[in-house]
Amino acid sequence: MNFDSIKKIQDVDLKNKKVLVRVDYNVPLKDGKVDNNKRIVATEKTIKHLLDNNCRIVLIAHLGRPKGKVCPEFSLAPVAAEVEKLFGVPVHFAKDCVGPEADKVVAETKNGEIALLENLRFHPEEEKNDPEFAKQLAKHGEVFVQEAFGTVHRAHASTSAIADFLPGCAGYLVQKEVEFLGKALENPARPFAAVVGGAKVSDKIMLLNNLMDKVNVLVIGGGMAYTFLKVQGHEIGKSLFDAEKEDEAKAVLAKAQEKGVKILLPVDHICGKEFAETAEPVTVEDINIPADLMGMDIGPKTMAMFREELLKCKTIFWNGPMGVFEFPNFAKGSFAIAQAMIDATKAGATTIIGGGDSVNVLKKGKFNQKELSHVSTGGGASMEFVEGKELPGLVALAK
Ligand code: AMP
Repeated sequence: MNFDSIKKIQDVDLKNKKVLVRVDYNVPLKDGKVDNNKRIVATEKTIKHLLDNNCRIVLIAHLGRPKGKVCPEFSLAPVAAEVEKLFGVPVHFAKDCVGPEADKVVAETKNGEIALLENLRFHPEEEKNDPEFAKQLAKHGEVFVQEAFGTVHRAHASTSAIADFLPGCAGYLVQKEVEFLGKALENPARPFAAVVGGAKVSDKIMLLNNLMDKVNVLVIGGGMAYTFLKVQGHEIGKSLFDAEKEDEAKAVLAKAQEKGVKILLPVDHICGKEFAETAEPVTVEDINIPADLMGMDIGPKTMAMFREELLKCKTIFWNGPMGVFEFPNFAKGSFAIAQAMIDATKAGATTIIGGGDSVNVLKKGKFNQKELSHVSTGGGASMEFVEGKELPGLVALAK
């Protein structure tokens, strides 16, 4: 897809305009308050730009999975207070996102102020990409800004159909994601390595196949690595094995050979007798795992080997942990990758993390996300992006 055909917020004349902005404010709530405001903070550059242009800002968003019904626990009302606190301008909350209530609140909102409309997903039409619903939403703005990267892989009324009724552009957050996940991976500085981990081969097979056409080095760790080791003829003991994906794993290895992609798999392991937080960690110095053990993290030799390879690279993309990082005894391998990426960034490499669980590794290990070039905000969206799929929310903007 041609990302250059997507208009950018800074290239659109927005002075004094009424601007409809789709944001990803799907934030955790606790005791009726926002518990973590990161997603709201992430939109700061776009909101400030609109305020600087004296816009009347109308924010639309979803929260949780109310499945097309009004559920008070998924109300965006607590988010309005947080938005007001963060951006320091009056925020008017509307109890519905369409209809007279929304129209009234939008009409009351002045330029330089913000209206936040109630959860889009209280209406089943949102997830059905209903054009009539999109038209109702479109009434709230003269221009549409897509700022919710986390939802652009969904063809919903507020991501897809909306663009048929309003001229659309990408907010700063969406631009940054496209810049890193799109352009940097499409045209990477080389050598380019991808590190892929996580539990199952089946979840990552599309990702692996698409990356195979782009990377110089493919590092495979986590539970999925054992299926690869087994098809290579190694003993994997009680480790995870994706029998249904055996042929596809073989095909990945064959394709790598054909394309000259260097594949790195674990050469030693940290194992446990059972899948439990209390499992005693046993270092297996060999590539083969004894029958009574399961691989739960990469071993020290593997950590050093992966690190050495990554430090030679100019672009690194990472998705999925190297082990069961939720259990402290099996988190070292994932932390080692995080540290290698931080050190590679310091040495001038572009480092990108896409996918939910690698972000959780950073949190768990108390790594500073700012020490990486880009940590994607959209789990599912970034995954589909790197799998090579066209994302409806971006396609709609490019029209
Ligand atoms: P994913 O969401 O596909 O990236 O998978 C992440 C999950 O994979 C995490 O919950 C990890 O605990 C799990 N995982 C990583 N390595 C292993 C392993 N060796 N055995 C079992 N589960 C693993």
